[in-house]
Amino acid sequence: MSLLDDDIFLRYQRQIALPDIGETGQCELSNKHVLIVGCGGLGTTVSLFLVGAGIGSIVLVDHDAVEISNLHRQIAYRESDIGTQKVHALANQLRALNHNCRVRTIDKNTIGEAKKSDDKKGDTQLQLEIMLADVVVDCSDNFPTRHQINRICYQQKTVLVTASAIGWNGQLSVHRFLRDSPCYRCLVGETAELSARRCQDAGVLGPVVGTMASLQALQVIQELLRNIDPNSSLTTHTTHPCARMPSSNSRPLQANDQVTPNGSMAEFFHFDGRRMQLKSLRYEKDLHCPVCRHSVDAQDNSSRQKDG
Ligand SMILES: [Zn+2]
Repeated sequence: MSLLDDDIFLRYQRQIALPDIGETGQCELSNKHVLIVGCGGLGTTVSLFLVGAGIGSIVLVDHDAVEISNLHRQIAYRESDIGTQKVHALANQLRALNHNCRVRTIDKNTIGEAKKSDDKKGDTQLQLEIMLADVVVDCSDNFPTRHQINRICYQQKTVLVTASAIGWNGQLSVHRFLRDSPCYRCLVGETAELSARRCQDAGVLGPVVGTMASLQALQVIQELLRNIDPNSSLTTHTTHPCARMPSSNSRPLQANDQVTPNGSMAEFFHFDGRRMQLKSLRYEKDLHCPVCRHSVDAQDNSSRQKDG
């Protein structure tokens, strides 16, 4: 017996045809809730793909209005949207795309924009929104916000898919916060805050942003489907070696490396749009990370108590 009615089946049939998804996977997606922070170049593309794929509900967070300089990379907006709040313009597009998806909007000012990585202003509402989400997609454009999202996702152990793009390059990482797996702060460290640049300060190409957003949406779908078959190919990745390392606790993937959702390593992707190369690194927890080192301390204390 079919799990889906005829209209739903017809709508998603090319997706349901994938063995890793099927009707069970489509039902799973329709019950999931995703929080997207940032409705710029990343957030517009991510949300269009996720709503198109039949995610059950989405919350959009942003405080900016559409400007003419956004249009080359923020593909959901039109000239007629200039001056409109991004969350409202994007929500209109998403509702027109798929009426089955519930879309809720939040003006980021009601959350409070973090000014520093340890700024807890606005944590309360963001904590609530992250608590409701199955996956959080960080599409923001500044490091204080990224660190704020990472810190709360770590506290709540909510999966975080984060990406950024600048110039010809993009980066993507996934954080599942299991056991001693690393967080976003472990990956970028302190130096990222010092060298932080927004897209408005440095150039960025629309297709580079779109590539990273597409990878983000792909990763989110894989995370949302992870429960339907823990042994499926959706749960592991094997990728290529890489020459560029973001911090001292990372190294290139080896040929026989596997990064699994339960492992202590995490995966970091770097896209070079000029060379058309996508490379992958794996990296470990930073034992001095101000966000997640406590889990290591707690583990050490627990071991000592058991040893004693
Ligand atoms: Zn960390």
